[in-house]
Amino acid sequence: MYDVWKNALAEIEQQISTANFSTWFQDTSLLSTEDGNIKIGVKNSFYVKQLRNRYLDLIKTALENNNITINTIDFEVQSSTKPKVRSREITPDNTPLKTHVKKVKTDLEDQTSNTGLNHKYTLDNFVVGSNNDLAVSAARSIIDSPGDRYNPFFLYGGPGLGKTHLVQAIGNELLKKNPDLKIFYTPISHFYSDFIDAVKLGKGKEFNLKFRKLDVLIIDDFQFIVGKEKSQEEFFNIFNDLYQLNKQIIVTSDRLPSQIKSVDERLASRLTWAGAFDLQLPKFEDKCAILRAKAELMGAEIEPEAIEYIAENVNTNIRDLEGEFSTILLMSEVRGLTPLELIENGSVSVNKSSKLRPVSAKQIVEKVAKYYELPVKELTGKSRVSHIKNARQVAMFLLSKELNLSTNKIAAEVGVKDHTTVMHGVKKIEKDLKFNFTLRDQIEEIKEKIYG
Ligand code: ADP
Ligand code: MG
Repeated sequence: MYDVWKNALAEIEQQISTANFSTWFQDTSLLSTEDGNIKIGVKNSFYVKQLRNRYLDLIKTALENNNITINTIDFEVQSSTKPKVRSREITPDNTPLKTHVKKVKTDLEDQTSNTGLNHKYTLDNFVVGSNNDLAVSAARSIIDSPGDRYNPFFLYGGPGLGKTHLVQAIGNELLKKNPDLKIFYTPISHFYSDFIDAVKLGKGKEFNLKFRKLDVLIIDDFQFIVGKEKSQEEFFNIFNDLYQLNKQIIVTSDRLPSQIKSVDERLASRLTWAGAFDLQLPKFEDKCAILRAKAELMGAEIEPEAIEYIAENVNTNIRDLEGEFSTILLMSEVRGLTPLELIENGSVSVNKSSKLRPVSAKQIVEKVAKYYELPVKELTGKSRVSHIKNARQVAMFLLSKELNLSTNKIAAEVGVKDHTTVMHGVKKIEKDLKFNFTLRDQIEEIKEKIYG
């Protein structure tokens, strides 16, 4: 398979389930990228439909991330699954073949080095904002002193918020400092399938030894461990061995271990021994900063107003933010208009909102009150009794995080006099959340009730 495609596939693989990846992408190949007209070879016409309907955006982004310019994407049914690649055609526009080949080779080395890390994820290109600053400062501390304070490092958050990026960046930075470190990054699903393969071949012991030799183990998407008892047990053993040797363990997941069904309780509690760090949705300022950084990295020209427009209208995650950004840049190139001109003349309209049902401030206050078994009147009343005050602060916190309301509005909703009380309340919950796992669980449960 051609290297560009291999790199693109590696990226796609990280974003969809293992089952979907092997079903839809296993036998694909990149046939041509001439003049930005991309041709992808597939097994039969059924695949064309599926890939087009479900994965076109993903393919587009993955190719763009590998410096391929795109005008159109077509699929071609191939009788042989591994057609000969016309490598001369697969060069990004205007790039001399030679330099490109060289670049691809380095990329390939990156991808296939036995660390499993992708060198494109660095701390330099990870924008720090209020949505991730705690996690980043823990990451820096790990880079300074692996296996020390934040061990294991447990990082969680919804899809597309930067988990893979941040943990791979830790791996890459550690390797930069000390190239001899034995670091291994793997999604848990690969850990699982490699383990099954090893056992089938009677090599379970070697598998275990390979992991025990590591200095740093990075496990991505731990939530996919669900129901895989054997691999969970193996992981638990390796985890304990490495932990006892003070080796750094890093785990990401889309939720807290206690919320993953069928995870052994002991394992769940060990994973968060050193705390749990989360990545949150970026605020408007954070989104702008990420887009500005990306534009600078790409050398792309885009007006500040266009950046603000995209930031304002993408409210899902950073992956979508990047996706919309790339689309606008691409259209701007194709149409010969600047991004802002495109937006102003109505050629593009970005609207990515969370699929969550919209909720009102009143509903949030009601759900919080109900959760803590208090009448709304009491929650929004004057009582200073600590459990009532705590419920009130949780309501303030959720109104701020979920609805982005101003402190004055929040004050009015929860019946307090001034906005400094609100600021104090929200800060208090933010602080408690760092170490109070019961509170975290409560807030997750309340959110489920709000949106469920
Ligand atoms: P997750 O693993 O949480 O699903 P990823 O790490 O794959 O998310 O991030 C999705 C995309 O957003 C990636 O392209 C990543 O580089 C980018 N990204 C996420 N957070 C940041 C950030 N703080 N700064 C720059 N890019 C980011
Ligand atoms: Mg990820």
